[in-house]
Amino acid sequence: MNTLLPTSLVGSLPKPSWLAEPETLWSPWKLDGDQLAEGKQDALRVVAAEQVRRGIDVISDGEQTRQHFVTTFIEHLDGVDFAQRETVRIRDRYDASVPSVVGAVSRPKPVFVDDARFLRQQTDQPIKWALPGPMTMIDTLYDRHYKSREKLAWEFAGILNQEARELEAVGVDIIQFDEPAFNVFFDDVRDWGVAALERAAEGLRAETVVHICYGYGIKANNDWKATLGSEWRQYEESFPLLQRSSIDTISLESQHSHVPMDLIEILRGKKVMLGAIDVASETVETPEEVADTLRRALTFVDADKLVASTNCGMAPLPRDVALGKLSALSAGARIVREEIAGAQS
Ligand SMILES: [Zn+2]
Repeated sequence: MNTLLPTSLVGSLPKPSWLAEPETLWSPWKLDGDQLAEGKQDALRVVAAEQVRRGIDVISDGEQTRQHFVTTFIEHLDGVDFAQRETVRIRDRYDASVPSVVGAVSRPKPVFVDDARFLRQQTDQPIKWALPGPMTMIDTLYDRHYKSREKLAWEFAGILNQEARELEAVGVDIIQFDEPAFNVFFDDVRDWGVAALERAAEGLRAETVVHICYGYGIKANNDWKATLGSEWRQYEESFPLLQRSSIDTISLESQHSHVPMDLIEILRGKKVMLGAIDVASETVETPEEVADTLRRALTFVDADKLVASTNCGMAPLPRDVALGKLSALSAGARIVREEIAGAQS
């Protein structure tokens, strides 16, 4: 893409209230059968049009066709029993009742490929599709079968690669893997996490992104963040490994976060998708605030490698707030883009 400082959201947007309960994660669908299928497509039309109208360069699905960024993918796999539930600690942070892996995992048919094909028809701009990363998938399951986090992650990586290749084949330009678990399980990241992620991205011509964050603005995450001290240096563990990896772009949070900006220097040479929008606050950033965050990043990343983005998904926010934040993001990026163009002329 030729645009300097292109804009792109990380993941979810609020769903229309006729499709699912607003401002709720895991919100159940309000439609079913053919009406649900049609409703999901209408929601994709709406989020694509809003992103274009508000100046977003890379168009995402806003997770309009899934209930949850990890579980919806897993629901489509064989080998996982959603009736056999166990309580496990998620991200080492909060307890949740999760399904069990009871046999060899496989993907009997594509999961998001039809949805991606539909999104492709809605815009001529580049489109991005997000999938969960292998480590984050195993972190939301109880494993009775493989009895090895590494083995199960490797199986999921192969399955994700099948899905990613088919997404690419229907015209997805950028494939993103969401790995919030990379900010928690540092030994696993080093031992097999980055290798499993590279396996998931193997052979893709599409640009690849890994998104690592401190989570949605929900209570369990906010409480955890309060324990992390004044400087959040978790990225220091994964960034050196990712800098040497085959992944093209690293997506991280920055706006109102305690992540020291100079940590992105570790990634020099990679593209950086920088969160310049806080998803844990209902206050819409001013364009100048967004511009200021992007300007500070430019000390540590080359301008042609910076993508302006959100910290994480925006599903839990009121819809008008989330859309306002899209406009602020593109307006802020435009300010810095014009400054750079002015300096070069
Ligand atoms: Zn995130």
